[in-house]
Amino acid sequence: MKDTKSISKIRKEFNRTKIVATMGPACSSYDNLKQLFEEGVDVCRLNFSHGTYDDHQKIIDTINQLNEDLGTNVAMLLDLQGPKLRVGEMENGKVELIKGEIIDVTTEKCIGTANKVYINFESLPKDVDKGERILLDDGKLELRVTHTNKKNLIKAEVIVGGWLSNKKGFNLPDTKLSIPSMTQKDLDDLKFGIQNKVEWIGLSFVRTEADVIFLKNIIELNDWKPRVIAKIEKPEAVEFIDKIIAVTDGVMVARGDLGVEMPMEQVPVIQKMIVKKCIEASKPVIIATQMMESMITSAVPTRAEVNDVANAVMDGADAVMLSAETSVGAYPHLAVRAMRKTIFEVESKTNAPYFKGTRPDINSSTFFSDEICFTAVRISDHMKATAIVGMTFSGYSAYKLSSYRPKANIFIFTTNPRLINTLSLVWGVRGFLYRGFESTDDSIQDVNNTLAANGYVNTGDIVINTASMPIIERSRTNTIKISEIK
Ligand code: PGA
Ligand code: MN
Repeated sequence: MKDTKSISKIRKEFNRTKIVATMGPACSSYDNLKQLFEEGVDVCRLNFSHGTYDDHQKIIDTINQLNEDLGTNVAMLLDLQGPKLRVGEMENGKVELIKGEIIDVTTEKCIGTANKVYINFESLPKDVDKGERILLDDGKLELRVTHTNKKNLIKAEVIVGGWLSNKKGFNLPDTKLSIPSMTQKDLDDLKFGIQNKVEWIGLSFVRTEADVIFLKNIIELNDWKPRVIAKIEKPEAVEFIDKIIAVTDGVMVARGDLGVEMPMEQVPVIQKMIVKKCIEASKPVIIATQMMESMITSAVPTRAEVNDVANAVMDGADAVMLSAETSVGAYPHLAVRAMRKTIFEVESKTNAPYFKGTRPDINSSTFFSDEICFTAVRISDHMKATAIVGMTFSGYSAYKLSSYRPKANIFIFTTNPRLINTLSLVWGVRGFLYRGFESTDDSIQDVNNTLAANGYVNTGDIVINTASMPIIERSRTNTIKISEIK
């Protein structure tokens, strides 16, 4: 090991299932964010539906500083707003919509009141028709269109009233929208993310694989190429899920909007279906929204929330996500702690999260290396190995090893520094920077020594190494070696 800087000073024990925390005012100071890192956050989500470039830049700088100071490899996920309809700002931050009132929904910019709200999509009055539903704030409030001038103004009756605050979501489950997959704001935000070298980009309101391909084509034009998370939050995306999984680098089950756009009782089955397909395809999958919702205002979660997180872990999701709990909640670090403890309990008390995926297809173009990874995981099970250690430049074998969900720890050594943080989202994987690839034999010895020196493995432990031989060719994994730590 020529570079131990990337070995965390704060955590030797770790969960397999990763924690994504959404950034915001409640956790953005150095000290608050440090607490989150210490509690076990793996990925910081920058939600570009909120905040200025200045706010985001400060958080990015703080994340980079903490990674430096703590020796962590926390990744950044920049979540593009996408073509999400949102109301504008409200008078004094929030207004109360009263049941039975008729209110104006206008495309002319204005500060919202109890009788008039702004909506950020110009051709909306053309797209909607009388009688269609408008759902606000994740479906908590409901309006029904009574009239549209097909130009700039919709009139709607408040069916379910309540408080409406700044920039809440606006869903039209009955309307076919003529909206592009990325707005100018998304393009600007993407550029900002690439300049700041974020590892992951979330694409909201994906409808088909074409939306993902469009974003990936833009990313391809840059030197820094973040990987893409397709957010599944529309019925169309569920319909085209196989094609979307095939082209994306990862998926988010975005239950907030999905549970508004579709009957929410359908979401649990869809969630399980998507997790299974993603594991089969070795694409990381995040379960998002309302996981510890009550912790926005409470220091403890509800039993149902703990069950929800636990079930996602049992299904083998790569990551569970916190939204408002960490961005604006009263107890960000307790929310992370509650998740961490829940994950730990499930991972240590049941076999449910482990040994997923199916044996690779012999006709697949990646069969050789896939079979090596599959077999390494099976050997690790039979031999009760402590660790599976991979060496990769592209990250391919890291995703593959992870997808078979071994009980052994997955340690990935790479000369590619940008890959290490990226892998923080991937189930079970810990990445380390390595600069010494010479011969495969020496390298295997070297990385095993490093793990032992840092206390990740101990004398007598079985370690399964996978590698590419000859190492200098940087080709796909083709070797398994079993060693006992001396
Ligand atoms: P959002 O996405 O928080 O950006 O809306 C997640 C969701 O819809 O669940
Ligand atoms: Mn959403």
